[in-house]
Amino acid sequence: MADKYDMIVIGAGPGGYVAAIRAAQLGQKTAVVEKDKPGGRCLNYACIPAKTILYSAEVYDEARNGAADLGIKVDGVSIDWDVIGKRREKVSGTLAGGVSGLFDKNKIDLIEGEGALTAEGDVKVGRKTYEAGAVVLASGSVAMPIPGVEFGGRVVDTWGAWSLPELPQRIAVVGAGASGAEIASAYGRFGTEVTLIEMLDQVLPAEDKDCAKVVERAFKKQNIDVVLGTKVEGSTISASPADVPPTSRPSTSARPGSRPKRTDVSRSTSTSAPPRTGSMRSATWSAAPRWRTRRRRRG
Ligand SMILES: Cc1cc2nc3c(=O)[nH]c(=O)nc-3n(C[C@H](O)[C@H](O)[C@H](O)COP(=O)(O)OP(=O)(O)OC[C@H]3O[C@@H](n4cnc5c(N)ncnc54)[C@H](O)[C@@H]3O)c2cc1C
Repeated sequence: MADKYDMIVIGAGPGGYVAAIRAAQLGQKTAVVEKDKPGGRCLNYACIPAKTILYSAEVYDEARNGAADLGIKVDGVSIDWDVIGKRREKVSGTLAGGVSGLFDKNKIDLIEGEGALTAEGDVKVGRKTYEAGAVVLASGSVAMPIPGVEFGGRVVDTWGAWSLPELPQRIAVVGAGASGAEIASAYGRFGTEVTLIEMLDQVLPAEDKDCAKVVERAFKKQNIDVVLGTKVEGSTISASPADVPPTSRPSTSARPGSRPKRTDVSRSTSTSAPPRTGSMRSATWSAAPRWRTRRRRRG
């Protein structure tokens, strides 16, 4: 492999792979450095896993509740969580493979490892330095916990929520933006008891108020208890779920926020994959949010 490139892209997510392909199409000798999997967070840990599981939830919900209207009766519907998880992995794997295929087709070198910028503006991966005419930093983002709440155990980020080893009986989702809404809607339709907690006064706070109302109404039919105007400021860990008052006893709390991965490319010690956390099975403690005094519940 040549050590000199017109362009080196750090990160093979949707930002990085598209930039690399375009550069190659324009005749630039291009390489992509990726420390995890082609396709980045979107294909492997976020958008695509979310959509595969949402589709399973939709089909399950239709079979249980919707299909009778169409003259189709479905008896004995049940969930095989392992198969759902395997399909999620397969879909992500296929799409990540597609990105690798596009790299091959466009003669882009995929350099596996963590890239770091040198003082000269070249790219170092492990012990090797690659000379770069231009460098594109497409290192993406990592999950961001709420101040006062740390990820760990049953407090998981969005990837943790989409990769739970078992279907939870109950789940608390903190944040009713797009990701929180997707998680709540999928698990609600699978039959999990869901509490969706939002600091602002509507679900999907970035969206039009009238649309948000329609979504909120739909959520109520999906086993979701929507709690608005409530800020989660921290979590406490008790010895067992029984120690926590029933009104504030979520099984799992997921925080769908991200922050840019700004520092990654300038140091070589960062972790290589989004954290994989949140085992319902092994959990022996419960995360109980401390509620702010203003707590409004819409049932
Ligand atoms: C739960 C969830 C659901 C989402 N759903 C949607 C959706 O439905 N539609 C949508 O449009 N967007 C969605 N998004 C947003 C989408 O995931 C991001 O916008 C997208 O992933 C950003 O792409 P990116 O290439 O900038 O970064 P990423 O996808 O984060 O890719 C960055 C890549 O860079 C690599 N990297 C980082 N540092 C280094 C380094 N130093 N060396 C080598 N490699 C490095 C990482 O391993 C990673 O593979 C969702 C996000 C989340 C969290």
